[in-house]
Amino acid sequence: MTTEFTADVLICGAGAAGLTLAIDLARRGISFRLIEKMDDPFRGSRGKGIQPRTQEVFEDLGILDRVVAAGGIYPKLRDYRADGSYTDTTVGEHTDPTPSEPYHLPLMSPQFLTEAAMRERLAELGHRPQFGRELVSFEQDADGVTARLTGKAVDERVRVRWVIGADGGRSFVRQALDIGFPGKTLGVRAIVADVTLTGLTPDVWHRFADGDMERQIGVCPLAGTDLFQIQGPIPLEGEVDLSAAALTALVAERTGRDDIRIQSVLWASAFTMNARLADRYRVGRVFLVGDAAHVHPPTGGQGLNTSVQDAYNLGWKLAAVAAGASDALLDSYEAERRPIAASMLGLATKLLDALKRGEMRRGREVHQLDIGYPDSPLALEKPERSGGLLAGDRAPDAPVRGAAGQPTRLFELFKGPHWTLLGYEVERRAVSPRPQLHIHTFGPRGDLVDKGGHFHDAYALTPGDWVLVRPDGYIGAIVASSEIMALETYLQTVGLGIAVGAR
Ligand SMILES: Cc1cc2nc3c(=O)[nH]c(=O)nc-3n(C[C@H](O)[C@H](O)[C@H](O)COP(=O)(O)OP(=O)(O)OC[C@H]3O[C@@H](n4cnc5c(N)ncnc54)[C@H](O)[C@@H]3O)c2cc1C
Repeated sequence: MTTEFTADVLICGAGAAGLTLAIDLARRGISFRLIEKMDDPFRGSRGKGIQPRTQEVFEDLGILDRVVAAGGIYPKLRDYRADGSYTDTTVGEHTDPTPSEPYHLPLMSPQFLTEAAMRERLAELGHRPQFGRELVSFEQDADGVTARLTGKAVDERVRVRWVIGADGGRSFVRQALDIGFPGKTLGVRAIVADVTLTGLTPDVWHRFADGDMERQIGVCPLAGTDLFQIQGPIPLEGEVDLSAAALTALVAERTGRDDIRIQSVLWASAFTMNARLADRYRVGRVFLVGDAAHVHPPTGGQGLNTSVQDAYNLGWKLAAVAAGASDALLDSYEAERRPIAASMLGLATKLLDALKRGEMRRGREVHQLDIGYPDSPLALEKPERSGGLLAGDRAPDAPVRGAAGQPTRLFELFKGPHWTLLGYEVERRAVSPRPQLHIHTFGPRGDLVDKGGHFHDAYALTPGDWVLVRPDGYIGAIVASSEIMALETYLQTVGLGIAVGAR
C-alpha cells in the first residue's frame, strides 16, 4: 500500500465540528482536506446558542469577536398566558464575568453565521472547504487510509494518515466502521423553521403555551438577521407541511392570534429527538467528532458546543502525533470526550423533561465551564492535590501584568497552538526551552506579575509549583519543583521532549 500521502488528514463534513478542526490544523501547519457533500454551505439556524466555554475556544481560534458582532445576545423570554398577558424573564442565569471566567455572554449566533465566521477564519489561514465532494468508501491499513471521494465530474482516491468523520448524526463514517450508536428515541418530534413574519416584535423571544407538549410554540428573533426561528413539538406521525401558509395556520392555532403572518420560509425541518452515543470514537486511523459521535435533543443548546469542543480536543493531538508524538496520545481523545458526551446527553434529556413540564431553566451546567478531564491519562499531579485547581480542570483566566508593566491576561498568553508552562516562585532554568512550549514565571525575576492576586486566587499554588496548560486550555500537569523529572517525562509523552539550547 502506498505511503505517498495526499494530505495528513481528511476531514469529512464541513459543519461546525469539521470547520473547527480545519482551523485548528491550519494554524498548526498540518496538511488536510476538508470535504463537504453539499454543494453550498448549510443555511439553517439550528445550533444558535454559543456557551461560555465555546466562547473561550472561539477566542483562541480568533473568531469570538466576529461571531459576537455577526450574531448578538439572547433577548428576554416572553411567556404568554392564555388571556394574552405575559411575563418577561432572562434566558438562563445571568452572571457577570469574573477575572477567571471572562465570558458569561448569553451569546446567540445562528449556525449559518457561526459557520460563515469559521470559513472566513479558515480562508485567512489559506484554506477552504471543498463543497460537492462526498466520501463514499475508505479502507485503512497500518500506515494510512485510502478514501474514495465523488462529486459532479469528480471521482478521486486520496491517501491520508487519518480520516475524521465530522459528518453529522447520520454519519456515513460511523456506519462504515460498524460502530454501535445505542440510545433512545425520546418520543418527541418537533419543527424548526427560519422565517420572516409580521405581527411579533424582534425584541423578545415569544413563547406560547409553555409546558403543553401539544400546543407550545416558540418564536425567537435570530440575532444578526431579520429572521425568526419557530420551534415547537408536532405529532409523532404524519406528513408535515412547512410552507408559509401552513406555518401561519399552525401559529394561529397555538397562539389564538390571527395577526401573526409568516411571510417566507428560508429553511425548515421536522425532526425526531434522539439521545444516542457512539460506542467508540476511534477505530485505528479513523475518528468520529461532533454529531457523528453523539446526538441529543436541542434543549440546553449543547450539541454544536460539544461538537466544537470535540474537534478542539482532537486537533492538537493529531498535530502532535503527526510531528512524532506517541500514537497513544490519540487514545486520550475518546477517553476524555466520550464521558463528556454521555453526561451532556443526560443533561439535554433532563432539560427536555423539564421543558415538557414547563419548568425549564438553564443554569450554570449548560455553560460547559466546569467540563474537565480529571480521570484522563493526561492528568498528572505530583504530589497529588487535595483541593483547589486540579490536573484536568479548565485552566482559568487571570488578568496579570508583564514585568515591563503592560496589562495582559493568561488567555492572551495561552492563545495559539502552543503549550504554556507557568511557574510560581520557581527556578526558571529548571525546565529547558523547546518548540511549542511557552514558559512564564511569577515571583523574583519572573516575567509576569500577579498584580491583583487573580492568578493566586484562581490557581491556588504553593511556591515551587509548575502548572502545564495544554493547547486546548486544560491543566495537563501540576508538579512541585522537587518532582521536576515527572514533568520532563510528561513533556516527552506529549511530544515536547526535544530541548533546544543550553540551560
Ligand atoms: C432545532 C435544533 C436546535 C439546535 N440548537 C442548538 C443550540 O442552541 N446549541 C447547540 O450547541 N446545538 C444546537 N443544535 C445542534 C447542532 O445543530 C448540532 O449539534 C451541530 O450541527 C453538529 O455539528 P457537526 O459539525 O457535528 O454536524 P453537522 O452540522 O450535521 O455537519 C455535518 C456535515 O457533514 C456533511 N456530510 C455528511 N456526510 C458526508 C459525506 N459522506 N461526505 C462529505 N460530507 C458529508 C453534511 O452535509 C454536513 O454538512 C440544534 C439542533 C437542532 C436540530
